[in-house]
Amino acid sequence: TLPSTPIFEAIAKHDPKSPAIIHSASDRTFCYGSLLHDVAAAKDNLTSLAGGKPLAGERIAFLAENGYDYVVTFLSILAHDAIALPLAHTHPNSELRYIIENSEAALFLSTEKFQAKAQEVVETGLDHVPQLEILSKIETGAVSAETVKFGPDSVQNGGFMLYTSGTTNRPKGVVLSVPTITAQARSLIEAWNYAPSDLLLHVLPLHHIHGTINALFTPLMAGAAVEFAYPFNADTVWKRLAAPFLPHSPPTKRPITFLTVVPTIYNRLLATHPSLDPDMQEATRTAITPQYMRLNISGSAALPSPTKQAWTELSGGNVLLERYGMTEVGMALSCGLAFEDRVDGSVGWPLPSVDVRLVESETGQVIEPGQETDANGNPREGEIQLRGPTIFSGYFRNTKATAQEFVEATDGRGKWFKTGDVAIRQHVPGTGKSDQAWAKGPMYFIRGRKSVDIIKTGGEKVSALEVERELLSLPEVSEAAVVGLTSDQWGQKVAAVVVLTPKGLTGGRGGKPWGAMDMRRALKDRLANYKIPQELKIVESIPRNAMGKINKKNLIKDVFEK
Ligand code: ATP
Ligand code: MG
Repeated sequence: TLPSTPIFEAIAKHDPKSPAIIHSASDRTFCYGSLLHDVAAAKDNLTSLAGGKPLAGERIAFLAENGYDYVVTFLSILAHDAIALPLAHTHPNSELRYIIENSEAALFLSTEKFQAKAQEVVETGLDHVPQLEILSKIETGAVSAETVKFGPDSVQNGGFMLYTSGTTNRPKGVVLSVPTITAQARSLIEAWNYAPSDLLLHVLPLHHIHGTINALFTPLMAGAAVEFAYPFNADTVWKRLAAPFLPHSPPTKRPITFLTVVPTIYNRLLATHPSLDPDMQEATRTAITPQYMRLNISGSAALPSPTKQAWTELSGGNVLLERYGMTEVGMALSCGLAFEDRVDGSVGWPLPSVDVRLVESETGQVIEPGQETDANGNPREGEIQLRGPTIFSGYFRNTKATAQEFVEATDGRGKWFKTGDVAIRQHVPGTGKSDQAWAKGPMYFIRGRKSVDIIKTGGEKVSALEVERELLSLPEVSEAAVVGLTSDQWGQKVAAVVVLTPKGLTGGRGGKPWGAMDMRRALKDRLANYKIPQELKIVESIPRNAMGKINKKNLIKDVFEK
């Protein structure tokens, strides 16, 4: 029996013959009709692995390949009212050790494939040693005529435990309860119309919010199909997208309708497209037209305008939809489904059931509707604060961080979570006309993280993201990161780390690489003088994590303090 939770009830209602999970490489399909049977069997397996020990509320860490085994393992943990903690096999052992110790995991499960790695992690000096179990292969995928039985037990302790990306500090453990992830999924289903007809191509790691909630849990709630082609490889993705449109294509290959990835992945796809052969170019272009590709979403880091434009051109009008979210809150802001509601540089509006406010740092004032500009007509910046059923309730065993990041609401309706991200809000003419009730009013534009992206120089505030956007719009620049360096004279000074395009490599005076002078000249008409970086470092590449994020503190150390 399985507990009667919204996720299991939703899955039970989906058409049993409808595909749930597809393994792209092998073309193997697992239908909704087999999923709950396999989860029920895996639940029993887990009971015996744990020696009958109750698992409710316990963290159960697991290493599994992206695909059906992961899904069954994760759901079987929820069936025990326990907390599923997915680990990344790409992480170094030290990172896995940190997470296992920090989460005080009771059980550490591994599929056969990662057995050696799991053993290594456990054997190299853990203070908190979990019980390590290798998941026995259960026969999966058979559709049974019987329906899975539901118990009356409701779930109170279970959920997902995810770690933040660690962009600004050591990753923090975030527990997302079943009601929280259910609320997140429902909000996204309403906003983005996930439907059983959707086929989502999944190329993201499965230990972050983007890959787990947006690209897996939500489509499963909606009865859509998720096809795994992990790890991301541009060639593989293009081949898969093209498949239904090539002559003699296998009938099993349906067009992909949904892709949600990070900006660096769109960049990679765009950069590799010209090298495809003419047939592939044609087929892939068809595959990403709005006629077949219903939705292309970008998030986790700011989407550069050139990337967005290039994708629109290549796909014949499929404008990327940008959204904003974080581990602690799921998705919070999103552009709308109408193409005109996907405004450059904007992350749109508060998603259904998410309450958003902007709080000005200097004054502590809430920026009320209608007060979006100051006396000089400039947009007022404020920290994004959130509340509602999609927001987590606290960091795991870190009451200090939790206390710091929540503020009591004065209207008595719960607490506001301080995201640490700064935004402005602006009316954009021509937007908000769709029938999506939440996609109305002024739109949000992210200015960056309070801790690293809001640079204070000579009494002025500069958004690193704004300067990065301008740098990226130059034909000489392919990647850019803007940081604040400590300065005796200015408090902080604006500095840029840049990767040059081929044009940039010869774009300076006398055919030399582009330099600081060239940059200042190019930005002169685009940015106020104090926003133009005083220092420029040209590098070959800017290190990013799997989600395309830059750790700016490390970047400063590596580039400017060496
Ligand atoms: P840590 O909290 O450990 O430093 P992290 O904040 O990068 O790491 P995540 O929760 O994975 O960990 O990422 C959330 C952050 O990603 C947001 O707070 C925001 O700064 C950034 N982000 C997400 N979407 C966007 C977007 N569309 N534009 C700009 N930034 C974004
Ligand atoms: Mg964070």
